[in-house]
Amino acid sequence: MSERIAVIEGDGIGQEVIPAAIDVLESLDLDFEFVEGEAGDAVKEATGEALPQSTYDLAADADATLFGAAGETAADVILPLRDAVDSFVNIRPAKAYPGVDAVRPETDLVFLRENTEGVYSGHEDDLSDDLSTLTRVVTTSASEKLAHFACDYVEDSDDHDDFSVVHKANVMRKTDGRFRDAVVGVAEEQGVDTDEVLMDAFATHVCLDPEQFDVIVCPNLAGDVLSDLAAGLVGGLGLLPSANIGDDNALFEPVHGTAPDIAGQGIANPTATILSAALMLDHLGYTEEADRVETAVESVLAEGPRTGDLGGDADTDEVTAAIVDRL
Ligand code: ATP
Ligand code: MG
Repeated sequence: MSERIAVIEGDGIGQEVIPAAIDVLESLDLDFEFVEGEAGDAVKEATGEALPQSTYDLAADADATLFGAAGETAADVILPLRDAVDSFVNIRPAKAYPGVDAVRPETDLVFLRENTEGVYSGHEDDLSDDLSTLTRVVTTSASEKLAHFACDYVEDSDDHDDFSVVHKANVMRKTDGRFRDAVVGVAEEQGVDTDEVLMDAFATHVCLDPEQFDVIVCPNLAGDVLSDLAAGLVGGLGLLPSANIGDDNALFEPVHGTAPDIAGQGIANPTATILSAALMLDHLGYTEEADRVETAVESVLAEGPRTGDLGGDADTDEVTAAIVDRL
């Protein structure tokens, strides 16, 4: 059965790192049909719309989407795209690889971030010249859905068997209290061990001793900020992949953006996007291929060639070719 993969490069280095990931996927000889869609600043300039309906439909109807980055229009592109794939969890692994200069080389974390509500649910108001408000939305149903995913994730995995719930329920008693109760309740039902960490304390402890954590389940904003913090621990943005998972669909993208300072030069690090493609392979059931891609990436990170952000002088194509070669 052939899978239909929506491919959306977007702007900036998206146009360089997505073709690199496609090269890697094509070298695996799987039965993928790649269909390209447009989104981002350039499309907005040309048509007035950052995310044409045709691209939204392409992502909604595909088996999975591989997305690069969008510039100024990022929020107008990625938020609706996450909605198109009905994604309720954002998976963000943050792992240090041998050969990469990392602040904490022992870091090996996976963030499972709630992806639909919290402070990102869009309920903001200007009430007067002096006053703006934000409504923070937390539902038991979305929290439980994330928790069921987290339990299945650790149960299906050889590397993990419990998770930490990161929250601030001591202050946000109703919203994070609801989140905490829902997540811990589901974990107890499914027989998965959890511990709880307050999010401010987590920020300190993960810097001092990341090895005490493994899988982290957290609300939307906390997951966004804390996973970027973890990116700093493992050696930078060029390495971090992410997955937005829905019930019947999913979207995979590097954590980094369009990197305007290096765009167009062919020197972007393709690793984050190639590892995102590996997450996609895993999600589609190609577990062995996913492992092979990760192993090839690992070997190139250890032995080179490396791009400039990792202290090397190779360009995107050389690194991609080296990864394809290892496969
Ligand atoms: P955007 O608004 O699109 O997020 P940005 O200016 O925040 O753009 P990012 O893409 O978030 O840029 O990148 C931040 C920094 O990290 C930049 O200096 C960029 O060059 C670097 N960087 C990000 N991704 C990569 C990559 N894949 N390879 C090399 N450097 C990268
Ligand atoms: Mg950015």
